[in-house]
Amino acid sequence: MIAGGAGFLGSRLCSRYLEYGCTVTCLDNLSTGRLCNLSHIMDHPKFTFALHDVIDPISLESPFNYIFNMACPASPPKYQSDPIQTIKTSLYGAFNLLELAARKEARILQASTSEIYGDPEVSPQQERYQGNVNTVGPRSCYDEGKRAAETIFYDHHECFGTDLRIARIFNAYGPGMDAMDGRVVSNFINQALAGQPITIFGDGSQTRSFCYLEDMVDGLIALMHSPATSNIPINLGNPDEFSILELASLILKKIPTESKIIFVDLPQDDPRQRCPDISRARKHLGWVPTLNIRQLFMTLIPA
Ligand code: UDP
Repeated sequence: MIAGGAGFLGSRLCSRYLEYGCTVTCLDNLSTGRLCNLSHIMDHPKFTFALHDVIDPISLESPFNYIFNMACPASPPKYQSDPIQTIKTSLYGAFNLLELAARKEARILQASTSEIYGDPEVSPQQERYQGNVNTVGPRSCYDEGKRAAETIFYDHHECFGTDLRIARIFNAYGPGMDAMDGRVVSNFINQALAGQPITIFGDGSQTRSFCYLEDMVDGLIALMHSPATSNIPINLGNPDEFSILELASLILKKIPTESKIIFVDLPQDDPRQRCPDISRARKHLGWVPTLNIRQLFMTLIPA
């Protein structure tokens, strides 16, 4: 069962498990998830779509062995547009899905995030780093919601022995992202294609590490099926770190365009740096990302 299965990562998980021959149920309230992400599998005999918000209790008859909680808007403009709904999605969603997992005796994976490190004071970020998060700011609804969800998962494991996995996802990108998602990779590509200004927030020196969709989905699946010792949080991301200015230059080199870079205000609490330490993923899952954004741009978009 994939909660948030109509989203960018969730829909790819649905397709992958169908390819493996599994029976898949997708639960989504379609707030940021899109049915077009599922159009190619909607009629698949082993696929069921249920329109449902994880904020509400979940009563599904089918048995489930594995549950992914991918349900939450993840792009800053999207999760900030309704912050109460965002934090409720993380908190109530965690409780409702953990209760479902208990009833079904299923293993459950929580899609957590690099945002739980906030604006990190160390780099790269290891899982034992406890973060630097503002509790009262525009990103708090997402950051603190995801932090508390990790706690709720941890406590369920401590109290009830829940079989769980926690993935801390670092900036995934790739085909199927909503063009209007508002995140930096899709924004810059769309702006370049439309000949519009490339909007760099701040001076562009802040960094991110971008992980390709298929690598991220491989990591999520490897984590879900990893031994029980992996119930500790695990970073999933590509340590290839870029400044946002470098990313803009790369895109401008690859897409013929009249677009020029413009600098606009840096949003409040925008993390200065972000780079995963993936030693744990390497050790526990044998997983490392295989593609980086530079190689992909070389392959997919000839100069
Ligand atoms: N950003 C930018 N221009 C945009 C969108 C984002 O410069 O049009 C910056 C943003 O301020 C942040 C980084 O790119 O520093 C990544 O932003 P995104 O929204 O993709 O994800 P985040 O990692 O901040 O959640």
